[in-house]
Amino acid sequence: MPRRRPKRPNPRGDREPRPIGDVFGRTESGPGDDENYVVRTVSGARAVKTYRCPGCDHEIAPGTPHIVAWPADGGEDDRRHWHTGCWRGRRTRTITRRWS
Ligand SMILES: [Zn+2]
Repeated sequence: MPRRRPKRPNPRGDREPRPIGDVFGRTESGPGDDENYVVRTVSGARAVKTYRCPGCDHEIAPGTPHIVAWPADGGEDDRRHWHTGCWRGRRTRTITRRWS
């Protein structure tokens, strides 16, 4: 008979309030399918420089909470700073379809 761990009561499904702030990097699939990226959230207080977002080619102003991501295989030298929204939309951005 399989033993099940009792689940915490969570009436709203998996929408647990959980701080995503300066926790350790998590891994997500990157803009391509074959690479995993380590992803970190940078809080506004830690964003002290201007970065250029590879998603939209615009600058990320200091004080803007954003995302840092780099290939899991690579080093921190490969880090890229993304707008949070651009990182989330990285899949759809790369699959831009042209009808010309
Ligand atoms: Zn952007």
